[in-house]
Amino acid sequence: MTALSRPGFLIRTAEIVSVGTELLLGQTVDTNAAFLSRELAELGISTYRHTVVGDNPERLEKAIREALEDNDLVIMTGGLGPTDDDLTAEIAASIMDAPLVKDAAIDQELNRRYPDRERYDFSRYPLLPQDARAFPNDNGTAPGSLSIFSWNGRQKAILLLPGPPAEMEPMFLNRVKESLAVYCPDRFIHRYVRLYGIGESRAESLVSDLLKDQTRVTLAPYASASEVVFRISQKLSDPHEDDLTEAMVQELIGRFGDHVFEVGARSLEGVLADLLR
Ligand code: AMP
Ligand code: MG
Repeated sequence: MTALSRPGFLIRTAEIVSVGTELLLGQTVDTNAAFLSRELAELGISTYRHTVVGDNPERLEKAIREALEDNDLVIMTGGLGPTDDDLTAEIAASIMDAPLVKDAAIDQELNRRYPDRERYDFSRYPLLPQDARAFPNDNGTAPGSLSIFSWNGRQKAILLLPGPPAEMEPMFLNRVKESLAVYCPDRFIHRYVRLYGIGESRAESLVSDLLKDQTRVTLAPYASASEVVFRISQKLSDPHEDDLTEAMVQELIGRFGDHVFEVGARSLEGVLADLLR
């Protein structure tokens, strides 16, 4: 039995540690933390903290240890590349007391995709913490990995993901999410209905009856400068429970009509860009 199949471990809380000096310099916005927090909420995992740390070994190690102290799961993005400032896997492995070992499947996949691999510095990519579950990168080279391990007598999980959002997001959605779900006590369905051209108080007044009378499906409004969003959530205690959110989505569409520009995650700009394309 590998460490990953050990039963009884539940993930309730998480910290996201974003790694990269460019994030601290303000050159890159930490969109990974926002994306991952939204996804964790759907799995019923509470994100307790976002941390950003530069490419510095001592501060990275300290950040990981503090995150493990307070949370079941630590997700790290960035710093998985081949250069000397890419330290994430090495430091995480040393904290887990698991050596970095070559993952044969990842190695084979890199050979298949890059027959002239010797030309590149790919030697570090197949090296993952021992006993980790590997997630191939369909849009790049650095794989992700999930480790469950014992730390100071408690079970913990570390998930390593690549930094570039175009690699990390599809990897999470297509490969990681279902692996994490195994360790989540409750599942949630979250849907989003987004409105334009109506203020928050007017929008709320049109659904005050629904806001007052919340049972299995909950409705929560929030507003920003350009939109009002209603989040519709349902907690699934049993995976075979019916999805009741669609009826609520249709109810909101019926009440708000043309103010609804999106049922889903896209921003107003995103919807416009898709229409123009
Ligand atoms: P790395 O995996 O550290 O080599 O990161 C590669 C690139 O991914 C960086 O140059 C950033 O452009 C991007 N990136 C890394 N971390 C994040 C993050 N937390 N949010 C958004 N983009 C990121
Ligand atoms: Mg980096």
